[in-house]
Amino acid sequence: MRLVFLGAPGVGKGTQADRVAARFHRPKVSTGDLLREAVKNKTPLGLAAKSAMDAGELVPDTVVIGMVRERLAEPDCANGFILDGFPRTVPQAEELAKILKAAGTRLDRVINFQVPHEEILKRLSGRRSCPRCQAVFHVDFAPPRKPGLCDRCGEQLIQRNDDRKETIEARLRVYEEQTAPLIAYYDQRRLLSNLDGSGSVESVHERLTALLAGFGLT
Ligand code: AMP
Repeated sequence: MRLVFLGAPGVGKGTQADRVAARFHRPKVSTGDLLREAVKNKTPLGLAAKSAMDAGELVPDTVVIGMVRERLAEPDCANGFILDGFPRTVPQAEELAKILKAAGTRLDRVINFQVPHEEILKRLSGRRSCPRCQAVFHVDFAPPRKPGLCDRCGEQLIQRNDDRKETIEARLRVYEEQTAPLIAYYDQRRLLSNLDGSGSVESVHERLTALLAGFGLT
C-alpha cells in the first residue's frame, strides 16, 4: 500500500492518513510533521525551513526531497506508507517516482481530497494542534475532551502559526499555483482517484476505505 494523499490545506488529509495508518499498519509520512519536528528541535534544516513555513510558503524542493528520501528508506516503510503533504510540486513528484523506481516499487494510488472552499476556511481557522505529539483537534468539529489540552498526551494545544487567518490565504494560493497541477499530473498517469472530503471524519474514512478496497488495497 503506497499512497499519496493530495489536496489543499485543511481538506483532512492528515487526519485520514492517521486513520489509514492505524487501520492498515503502515506509517504515515507527513512532511509537515517532519518539518515541524525539525523546527522544534532547532536543527539546521528546521532553522532553514521556519520562515517559509510561518509565511505559508513552500520549503525548497531539495530540502523536502532529501528528507523524504531518508524517511522512505527506513525499514517501517518497506511494505508501504501514506504520504501526507508530499509531493507538493511537480519536481517533487518526479523525484518521488525516481526514488520508488530505484527501490523497485511504484505508487499504488493518489487520493485527491476535495472539500468546498468555505469548509476549508472553517476547518483551518478552528484547528488546534498539539506541539508535542502532533495530534490535531478542532474547536467545533473535533474538540478535545478537556478544553485546550491534548487528549493523547495532555499538552497544551496551540494554533499553528500558519493556521492564522493571514497565512491561510497564502497557503491556499500556494496550493493552487504549485500543488494543484499534480492533479493533472497523476491523472495522466492513471493513478488519481477523487474523494469527497466533506462531512464527518468518520464518513470520509468510510468512503476512503471503500475506495481503497475497490483497488484491492485492504
Ligand atoms: P502541512 O502540515 O502539510 O500543511 O505543512 C506545513 C508547511 O510545511 C507548509 O505550509 C510548507 O511550508 C511546509 N511543507 C510541508 N510539506 C511540504 C512539501 N512537500 N514541500 C514544501 N514545503 C512543505
